[in-house]
Amino acid sequence: MTFNTIGFVGLGLIGGSVAKSIKRVHPEITIVGYNRNQEVLKEAVRDGVIDITSDDSLEAFRECDLIFLCVPVVTALDFMDRLRHIKKESAILTDVGSVKTGIHKYVEEEGLTDCFIGGHPMAGSEKTGYANSSDRLIENAWYILTPAGDVDVHIISDLSTLISSMGALPLIMTYEEHDHVTAAISHLPHVISASLVNLVHDQDGPEHYMKLIAAGGFRDITRISSSSPQMWQEICLDNPDNICAMMDAYISKLIDYRLAIRNENAEELLNIFTQCKDYRDSFDTEPRGSLPGEHRIYVDIADEPGAIAQIATMLAMHNISIKNIGIVHNREFEQGVLRIVFYEKDAKESAIRVLEDRNYYVHKE
Ligand code: NAD
Repeated sequence: MTFNTIGFVGLGLIGGSVAKSIKRVHPEITIVGYNRNQEVLKEAVRDGVIDITSDDSLEAFRECDLIFLCVPVVTALDFMDRLRHIKKESAILTDVGSVKTGIHKYVEEEGLTDCFIGGHPMAGSEKTGYANSSDRLIENAWYILTPAGDVDVHIISDLSTLISSMGALPLIMTYEEHDHVTAAISHLPHVISASLVNLVHDQDGPEHYMKLIAAGGFRDITRISSSSPQMWQEICLDNPDNICAMMDAYISKLIDYRLAIRNENAEELLNIFTQCKDYRDSFDTEPRGSLPGEHRIYVDIADEPGAIAQIATMLAMHNISIKNIGIVHNREFEQGVLRIVFYEKDAKESAIRVLEDRNYYVHKE
């Protein structure tokens, strides 16, 4: 599917950044924009980012092939409800929300599973609004896609390709996996950061020495506490089960560590800090998605709705990251063949094992 006309509802930090990135790479694409604040819309037109503005009727979105919902999640549901009656039948809706379960449940309840692909660019800043958006914000950032169950696999592939073209790193997973993973690496850290900052606030004496000398490490691990309180309130309200499960696991770790310190268990303390150093150091040496080459496999499948969701779920359950996925048409294979692209060789090999164990026929390169 070619996205000739792309719409944006909400031109804040993320909406503005994605729209600017698309315009930078694909100036030929027509961009339709709606924003609550009219001044921002005018600015985006002046910047050459928006070609057509929409009023509150949203009629201007009728011609869009793809519509990005870049407003808070609750608001995105309202817009989705209105746009479903306006958009052309083939148009795809995508969002940028930090939590995916709520919007996917809504999509399932409302029968929109053939036209919704959840999205989450893992980029941001402590600042919000169009004024802080940039055509490079999402460059080299993971951009997670969570396709609903009945979306045509070619469309998933096209959206993935659009995202790659902006320099971001698409990663396809189920919405459940997304909310589990982000609870650990994004939501829990935010809660911990907030608790640390508030702890220091409560514990500091009248001279405010703690605040005065808060330096290096403390500043680094609490930087994220300066981001939008409203957004983090929304994230906690949207992903409570996963966040609480991670908090329980974290509290139990803290209790273990407290015990090791209380008991002056030197060996255990060294183990704790050695293990975390080794694992943390490996983050910097393992290549990010942009660096390694692509690793592909081809899998025979029936070209029917749900087939891709089954495979994506299966691979996600084994923590295997998918970069892109698509049906191959002009090929030497006889049946429907799904091309799956991975970032890493190990992921490709694990996927072959998982799929072959379940009797899929895998063509290897
Ligand atoms: P932002 O405040 O910069 O922009 C929000 C946009 O939504 C603005 O255009 C605002 O006018 C519009 N908006 C808000 N309420 C509205 C309403 N009731 N009606 C119409 N428009 C309304 O915020 P952002 O950082 O761009 O966040 C937008 C989405 O992106 C959120 O869902 C957030 O979860 C997600 N996200 C944010 C980050 C980040 O770090 N900021 C990262 C990834 C994803």
